[in-house]
Amino acid sequence: MPSQLASVLTLFVIYMLLICLISTASAVFLGLSVYNDARYRCNGNAVMWGLLSGFFGIAAIIYLCIRSSEKHLTCLRCRQTYPSDSPCCPVCGLPSPNVSRIGTPQQMEQWKKRRKLFLILFIVSIALTVIASAAVFVWYFNSILRMVESSQYYF
Ligand SMILES: [Zn+2]
Repeated sequence: MPSQLASVLTLFVIYMLLICLISTASAVFLGLSVYNDARYRCNGNAVMWGLLSGFFGIAAIIYLCIRSSEKHLTCLRCRQTYPSDSPCCPVCGLPSPNVSRIGTPQQMEQWKKRRKLFLILFIVSIALTVIASAAVFVWYFNSILRMVESSQYYF
């Protein structure tokens, strides 16, 4: 009986480690998705937002909230609003403060693609974490239950 318990516990630890690994991967994917989205939107704090979202998922929600307001810039000279990826104001031509962060069209396309790819990977790994956790707990309690039931015959 003790060897059976030991093997169940060993398997349980292995499964838990696997689940930790998948959930760590999901945090990394979320951080990468946020980083690429921020680069795509010419956000000057892309690295900070990526790291914060990787370590604390809640930062990704905060990022989503402030993100919509960063799609457009207001020209400092003529108050005209224009897209954040435009190199200068279309009305008066004042260079955008984002001008150094705007990538080449290929880079922009790459950031856009990676943002989507990492978002999909994040959703898949979160779903895997939830499914695997539920499966492990059902399996674990079933094994314990079976062991308890079979040991009753010995008492
Ligand atoms: Zn202007």
